[in-house]
Amino acid sequence: MKTVGVIGSGFSGLAAASSLAASGFKVTVLEKNETLGGRARKFESDGYIFDMGPSWYWMPEVFENFFNKFGKKTSDYYKLIRLDPSYDVIFGADDIVSMPADYKELKALFDNIEPGSSQNLDKFLHEAEYKYKVGMEEFVWKPGQSIMEFVDIRVVKSLFRLQMLTSIATQIDKLFKNEKLRNILKFPVLFLGATPENTPALYSLMNYADLRLGTWYPMGGMYKVIEGFVSVAKELGVDFITNAEVTKLNVTDGKVTDVQTEKGSYSFDFVVASADYHHVEQSLLPEQYRTYDKKYWESRTMAPSSLLFYLGLNTRLKGLKHHNLFFDKDFALHAKEIYTDPKWPTDPLFYVSCPTMTDDFIAPRGCENVFLLMPLAPGVRDNEVLRAQYFDIICDRIKFITGNEIRDHIVFKKSYCVSDFESDYHAFKGNAYGLANTLYQTAFLKPKMHNKNISNLYYTGQLTTPGPGVPPSIISGQVVANEIIKLNKS
Ligand SMILES: Cc1cc2nc3c(=O)[nH]c(=O)nc-3n(C[C@H](O)[C@H](O)[C@H](O)COP(=O)(O)OP(=O)(O)OC[C@H]3O[C@@H](n4cnc5c(N)ncnc54)[C@H](O)[C@@H]3O)c2cc1C
Repeated sequence: MKTVGVIGSGFSGLAAASSLAASGFKVTVLEKNETLGGRARKFESDGYIFDMGPSWYWMPEVFENFFNKFGKKTSDYYKLIRLDPSYDVIFGADDIVSMPADYKELKALFDNIEPGSSQNLDKFLHEAEYKYKVGMEEFVWKPGQSIMEFVDIRVVKSLFRLQMLTSIATQIDKLFKNEKLRNILKFPVLFLGATPENTPALYSLMNYADLRLGTWYPMGGMYKVIEGFVSVAKELGVDFITNAEVTKLNVTDGKVTDVQTEKGSYSFDFVVASADYHHVEQSLLPEQYRTYDKKYWESRTMAPSSLLFYLGLNTRLKGLKHHNLFFDKDFALHAKEIYTDPKWPTDPLFYVSCPTMTDDFIAPRGCENVFLLMPLAPGVRDNEVLRAQYFDIICDRIKFITGNEIRDHIVFKKSYCVSDFESDYHAFKGNAYGLANTLYQTAFLKPKMHNKNISNLYYTGQLTTPGPGVPPSIISGQVVANEIIKLNKS
């Protein structure tokens, strides 16, 4: 039986581990932290259960297909609910747009905001559906090792229609005149990686996922999904070793010969690094074996970091939904202060999640579980004073718009920011979502899955193909497993 060591237990590592174990490999996952799940970990305190990272469950078929591969269903592990409204977009105190799950209602909403715009929405989403299908059936399953993978007549024929060379901002601005509609349609790319101006229109596939496939919630929280992934892996015989930070990869004759951890050394036939790519290359490998140098990483556009607050409140909140996007300030300015002029934002946009609006299980009775997220430029300085200052800005805005004074009801509060991402996950510049999906960082232009100098070292996760987000990370883990399975067969 060939052995594989997987570094890291996030979605990509877990997906790779199960896929490899199901193909006959003996797999061991080495995780630095005490708990499994990576950025999708949870923690509990005072009766509140907090998801630490992802809260939007999009592209449900990616999760379903993953479990189906092992003869399982999502419903074996968690109950999914489709949210309706999917989310609220807050433009001002009396200016809140609730996004209906039903498409007819959504079209009526668009027409109400900009007369006649539902026809353009149809057009936009028709093309987005095509991109989603080609993207999800073709592109995301390619490891991105070479441009030649894309020299396939179906893919080449579709390149024009995929609009790789048009920005999503240009496409949206052409079709919609109303600034609110424009911002609603641009939000998915802003939150997951890059400015709309810098993101190929290919990624309107995210709008299709949002507006047509829906926003879902696994009862009990996103961590239920991690629990499902871990159960599948354990049933397939995967071993997990936690509190086992990998400190060095020893290489002899172009192969990783042993993986040094705080708990001792391990030898494997293959190593899959699902920890942040930059960390693995720059900190665990001797310089001559790295595929990319420091200059390369400095020139990359990283996805944002975030300032987060996990709050347990001793009351229920009014006027908020499960997902709430506060777009009551200048969208373009905040985007600029993340990407082109990195600094703490002048007037931040932020996101408030109140999963207790859907799920009573995750807080004591009559209490609210609240998660605040403010996107932040990667690599900015981070300290307690700034965190406190922005907490007040966010609370003031919530109070102004909804009337809720959150600060009077806090029984639990924890903040999380750039320096926590760095220390907990070895995240380059404290990134939250990996590498941005810009044109020059798409497909074969992303850091490669296979180390060119070390034959048995592979990478997976949100800094390589296909990109950031839970569904892409799940796919990334399966793609890297397929590469090793193919190599092992040949
Ligand atoms: C706040 C936040 C909100 C998000 N919201 C959403 C959302 O709503 N929807 C969505 O789809 N996506 C969301 N994302 C993105 C999504 O969570 C990630 O893209 C995905 O979880 C990344 O998975 P991964 O396996 O690539 O990396 P990770 O989850 O980071 O896993 C890497 C693992 O490697 C471990 N590790 C690092 N170094 C070492 C070492 N030296 N030795 C051993 N182990 C090591 C880390 O501890 C970690 O467990 C969000 C992310 C964050 C942070």
